[in-house]
Formats: sequence, structure tokens, C-alpha cells
Amino acid sequence: MNLKEEILGVNVTALPIETLLEDIDRRIENKDKGRIVAINPEKIMMAQKDPELSKLLNDSAYQIPDGVGVSIASKLLGGSIRWRITGVGMMENLLQRASEKQYRVFFYGAKEETVVKAIGKIKQLHPEIQVAGYLNGYEKDDSVIIDRINEANADIVFVALGSPRQELFIERNMDKLSPAIYQGVGGSFDVFSGNVKRAPIFFRKLGLEWLYRLISQPSRLKRQLALPRFLLLILKQKKRNA
Ligand code: UDP
Repeated sequence: MNLKEEILGVNVTALPIETLLEDIDRRIENKDKGRIVAINPEKIMMAQKDPELSKLLNDSAYQIPDGVGVSIASKLLGGSIRWRITGVGMMENLLQRASEKQYRVFFYGAKEETVVKAIGKIKQLHPEIQVAGYLNGYEKDDSVIIDRINEANADIVFVALGSPRQELFIERNMDKLSPAIYQGVGGSFDVFSGNVKRAPIFFRKLGLEWLYRLISQPSRLKRQLALPRFLLLILKQKKRNA
């Protein structure tokens, strides 16, 4: 089962987290290859003008609704997504699952000290976790990277190179990479390592992580301006559908 909703031409997986994790279990058991991409209003807006990005997103096995904008859009368009799954949230869920099911996890990306520190913290949180290996994000030769990942025989590979670098890496090497679940996780290793703080729980509970990020990193304003433009397009679409 893999239910999708289409938002302005971009697929979004409409499975709540528990069902989504069960679907991923099945894929891992079958040794299927698949990637997880996070969908937010900014990416949907970018995809409007970029057919390659649009294809990359739509060809992925799972498109998680990252950010409250996607669930608002789903509601306005008559869809069923009322939750959001952030990239870090998905990664946390996968780590928990990996630890329960003894999946092998590979960590690729970020600076050497960051990825090492992140793995250390993750091991504290999940003492049972099977670390298949890791590689920092500054090796330039794709074939070296692919060999390292493939040799590790991982079930789940987190790729933390930032967007869109990580998506492009996965896309261009998908055929050569061994079967596993690949998730691009942006700056998540920085978050796990403690180098970058996540929004306090108060902001997260209210769905205001974006506001916290804006206050702490005002340079994000340009990225966040995609949201009102996105909602406007959704309202136009809703009118057309009516
Ligand atoms: N990074 C990397 N290799 C590169 C460029 C960046 O591994 O060639 C890492 C960088 O060290 C950082 C992450 O990618 O850990 C970028 O995180 P950012 O917060 O910019 O990503 P976003 O979540 O905004 O996509």
C-alpha cells in the first residue's frame, strides 16, 4: 500500500507514520531500494519551474509531508493529510525502528567531527543501534562514496549533504547504490551532534518551528516567503476544482 496525494503536481505520501514505517519494513525485508524525500511548500514551488526536480520527487518511494504548509494544502484540496513528518522526525522514527529490528544504518554527510559526534549521541539514545558505517560529506569522488556505502551492506542510509546536493547525489547514483532505504536529512547530523539546536518543544508542539528558525536565522526569510505564495496557488487550485 502506498497512498499518494498530489499537491500542485507533486506527490505526497498520505500514510500516517506507523503505516509508513510498516511499509518501509516490508521494503527492507524484500531488499527493495527506495528513497524518502521531504516535501515542503518551498520544494513544491521549486518543482513548478523545475521538471527534473519534479520528476525526482515524484519518482521517490516516499514523499513525507514536512511542514505544516503541506497539511494545510491537503486539507484545502480535500485530502487526508492532517499530520506532518519532518526530516529529523522521520530520521528519529527510523532510528527507533532500526534499533528494534536490528536494521543496519549508514551515516553519510556533514563534517567528520559532526558525523562522529552525531553517531555517538545516537548510540546513547539507541544503545541497540547497528551502525553499518559512516563517511563524512566532503569526499569528492562518487565511486569512493558508493563503494563505502555498498560495502557496509546497510538497510538504511542517511545522506546529510544539505538540499539539493543530497537529492542530486542519490538521484545520480541510485542505479549503482545497493538496495536500502535512502533518506536525505539535510543538517540533521548537526542537530544530533548538538552543534545546531532544534526549536524548543513549545514551538514544535504549536507547529511553529519555522518561526523559531526565522528568529534564530533571519537569513531564512527568503526561503520562507515561498509559503504565502504556495498557499495562494493552493487557493487558486481549490477554486478551479470547485
Ligand atoms: N555538507 C556536506 N558536504 C558538502 C556540503 C555540505 O556534508 O559538500 C553538510 C554540512 O556539513 C551540513 C549539511 O551538509 O552538515 C548542510 O546542512 P544545511 O542545514 O545547510 O541543510 P538543509 O537542511 O538546509 O538542507
